[in-house]
Amino acid sequence: MKLPQGIRVLERGWLSCNNILLDEAGSTTLVDSGYGAHAPQTLALLDQALSGTRLGHLVNTHCHSDHIGGNAAIRRRHACRVSIPEGEAPLIDAWDEAALILSIADQRAERFDYDATISPGEILRMGGFDWQAIAAPGHDNHALMYWCADERILISGDALWENGFGVVFPHLFGDERAFVTVRTTLERIAALGARIVLPGHGRPFDTTEAALERAFTRIDSFAADPERHARHALKVMLVFALLEKRSLPVETLPGYLEQTPLYGEIDRRFLRKGSAALAEYLVHDLQRAGAVRIEGCCLVPA
Ligand SMILES: [Zn+2]
Repeated sequence: MKLPQGIRVLERGWLSCNNILLDEAGSTTLVDSGYGAHAPQTLALLDQALSGTRLGHLVNTHCHSDHIGGNAAIRRRHACRVSIPEGEAPLIDAWDEAALILSIADQRAERFDYDATISPGEILRMGGFDWQAIAAPGHDNHALMYWCADERILISGDALWENGFGVVFPHLFGDERAFVTVRTTLERIAALGARIVLPGHGRPFDTTEAALERAFTRIDSFAADPERHARHALKVMLVFALLEKRSLPVETLPGYLEQTPLYGEIDRRFLRKGSAALAEYLVHDLQRAGAVRIEGCCLVPA
C-alpha cells in the first residue's frame, strides 16, 4: 500500500506499538513510542529513520505502557516537545500506576514529562498535513485518534486494528456501558470513510469496511457474553507479560496471577475460578491457540 510522501509506519509487534513518523522539513513528528523494555531499539530505529536529524514532536494516542514506554528516552535524546491527550494528563501528572494499568498488570513505563495536551477537535499540523484529534473512548476512555481529512487517513491507535481492537479495559473495571462506548467509537470511525488506517498494532490497511465489520461482530459478541471478553483480556495480558519476560516457570503461574492485582480482579468479577484453575485454563487455552508453548518447565511465547 502506498502512503503519501512523508508518512512512514515503523511496524513493531505486540509488546511495542507501531511508531508512525510524519516528516516535514525541519520538524518531524512521531506518534507513539513503544514499550519501555524496547526503548533502546526504538531510539535506534528512530535514529535510522531520521538519518541524523532531530525529532521535533512526540504525540501519543493514549497512555498505555506499549504506547508511552519510549517517551522519556526519546524526550531525553531529542529534546522534542511531547503532547498527550488531555484526558490522560491527570494520570500522568500523578503518575497513577494503577489508573495507567502499569503496576496492577505487571507492566512498566518510565515516568516522563509532557509539554502540551491535545483535546478532541483540535487540529495538529504533522508531516505537512492537518490532523484532527478525534475522541476514541472504549479501549481507553481518554484515547484520541488523528484524522487527516485531505488524505482520508486515520491513525487509529488501539480503537481499530485490521483484526479487532484493544481490550476494553473500562469494562474490566466495572463500566457496564463500555461495550456500547466501543460501538459508538466504531460508528464514529465508519462515518469518517477512511481510505487508509494506520493502526497501533499490525500493518496499515485499506480494507476499512471489512475491518469495521469484524470489529462490530467482535464487540457484539463481547456484549452478549462479557465472560468471553474477560477470558480474552486475561490471555492478552499474560501473553504481553511473557513477551517481556520471555519465560515463566509454569509452577509459579498461580502465584503470579495472585500477585498481579488485575488478574484477580477480573477473575473475581467475571469468572470466579481461583488462581490454580485460572492458571490451568490459561496455559491450556493459550497452548491450544498456538500463542504459548512449554519449554522444559517454562511457559514461553510461541
Ligand atoms: Zn492501548
